[in-house]
Amino acid sequence: MLRREEISSHLVRLTLGGAGLTGFTSTGISDEWVGLVVPGQFQSRYYTVRSWDGAELVLDIVVHDIGLVTEWAMRDCVGDVVTITEPKGSFAMPSDAGWLLLVGDLTALPAMARIAGEVRDVPVRMWAEVPGDQPDYLPEGCDVTWLEQPGDGQSALAEVVEGIEWPEGQGYFWMAGESAQMRAIRKHLMRERRLPSTAYDVMGYWRGVAKRQPRAVDPGPIYRAGKAAGKSDEEIWADYDAARENQ
Ligand SMILES: Cc1cc2nc3c(=O)[nH]c(=O)nc-3n(C[C@H](O)[C@H](O)[C@H](O)COP(=O)(O)OP(=O)(O)OC[C@H]3O[C@@H](n4cnc5c(N)ncnc54)[C@H](O)[C@@H]3O)c2cc1C
Repeated sequence: MLRREEISSHLVRLTLGGAGLTGFTSTGISDEWVGLVVPGQFQSRYYTVRSWDGAELVLDIVVHDIGLVTEWAMRDCVGDVVTITEPKGSFAMPSDAGWLLLVGDLTALPAMARIAGEVRDVPVRMWAEVPGDQPDYLPEGCDVTWLEQPGDGQSALAEVVEGIEWPEGQGYFWMAGESAQMRAIRKHLMRERRLPSTAYDVMGYWRGVAKRQPRAVDPGPIYRAGKAAGKSDEEIWADYDAARENQ
């Protein structure tokens, strides 16, 4: 970890670099993310690649009350060695889309900023729910409505989306944030708006529960079995993530 900067009251920018990033290849997808494993931990947490210039990789981390990465990022972590997984992305705006709507909370802002910076050929409208001050963060000239987050660990984005006035014609809707809100929105898009699945991408980025998420899947046996089978750490994390997704 090369640098740590506080870019707003709840956002910390971490710049990674060094020989370990040799061979990192961006997917080129605007909302691409990596799994991040911080020292002393085995579990990964996902973070958007805010930028990658071929040598340095920037992640913008929301610091909240408690959490594996949040607690590490609040400290002076410069010089620490972290692990990241292969990048993935899911933003897939159809080529005939005439507009783009982006909705998210602070965890989604890095992806929204990157998408807004890369999509230049259609009008982009954004809604961003943030705690406290609005970070000076999005590209110049963005059409954004700032919303106050209703409380720590909470979000009211579903209600906001249900009240949106939708543009005419075909477009693309991208949204990320608290998982329960995202589930409600998927239902709304399918049942009320009757959008085909190619017209939207809605992702749960975090779960709004009041305490540290339980280790529902014990990583120990997966790690030992993986090592015994000669798997790389990355393959073992993939097994672990798959086990969590299938629980
Ligand atoms: C594809 C993808 C991309 C993401 N990109 C980013 C990104 O660029 N920046 C970013 O900050 N996050 C991003 N996230 C969200 C991030 O992975 C989660 O917020 C993660 O839980 C943070 O890990 P932690 O170790 O800090 O907390 P955890 O140990 O996972 O959780 C501890 C407790 O904190 C609560 N919690 C988790 N996140 C939040 C939050 N944001 N606000 C309030 N309470 C919370 C949990 O409910 C839990 O109770 C992304 C998630 C996904 C799936």
